[in-house]
Amino acid sequence: MSKSVFPGMPFSELIFPSRCLVCKRISREIICSDCLSRVSPVPIPVCKICGSPVEKSNICFRCRQNPPYFSRARSYALYDGVIKIAIIRFKFEKKKRIGEFLGNLLGEFALNLNWKMDVIVPIPLSDRRLKERGFNQSEILALEVGKILKLPVSSGLVRIKETVPSISLSPAERIKNINKAFLLSDRDLKGKRVLLVDDVYTTGATVNEAGKTLLERGIKEVRVLTLARDLKI
Ligand SMILES: [Zn+2]
Ligand SMILES: [Zn+2]
Repeated sequence: MSKSVFPGMPFSELIFPSRCLVCKRISREIICSDCLSRVSPVPIPVCKICGSPVEKSNICFRCRQNPPYFSRARSYALYDGVIKIAIIRFKFEKKKRIGEFLGNLLGEFALNLNWKMDVIVPIPLSDRRLKERGFNQSEILALEVGKILKLPVSSGLVRIKETVPSISLSPAERIKNINKAFLLSDRDLKGKRVLLVDDVYTTGATVNEAGKTLLERGIKEVRVLTLARDLKI
């Protein structure tokens, strides 16, 4: 093996130095520290339940009108800039190691929340979508979060209904689209506190439907953790 003139740096990195996914400058990390410092956190205060930014009230109007099935939802960052670029590249360029890096950020964030949970459950993809993409992005995030929180990850939630991409749908259409989309196949989850993990929280319709399925099957409590939160809806 060739010896590097720069101690600690593999020879291959001198020829093909790794670059930051976002700014393309040479970086050892997938996202450089400069780009990471530009990640936008969700502005506070947030709704105690769904984690969306609120003016002053503790619980937002939507949660008061229509309480969700989950008791808490929080997101690591806003879905824009650095995180948006990273998520898009992770999902559509099928770069799994980006997901592992992002999952690590999400895990560190989750550690600070100090929630007492028993098991992590990723939001599943349909079989067709899984075949197209080759992996479930939420599962990759969940596995990293599980390592950091020292919690098991269950793939007991399955998607039984093919849903259309919700980007073009109104909030009401999103609810209809996701209705009865999930099924719980893992009986061992009964009585447990489940942490649902997904990549992006938009209206919350997907995680809420998953939460409903879990509570109907005897899960004790559902909380939600997502990497990003899209406030543009
Ligand atoms: Zn960068
Ligand atoms: Zn709320």
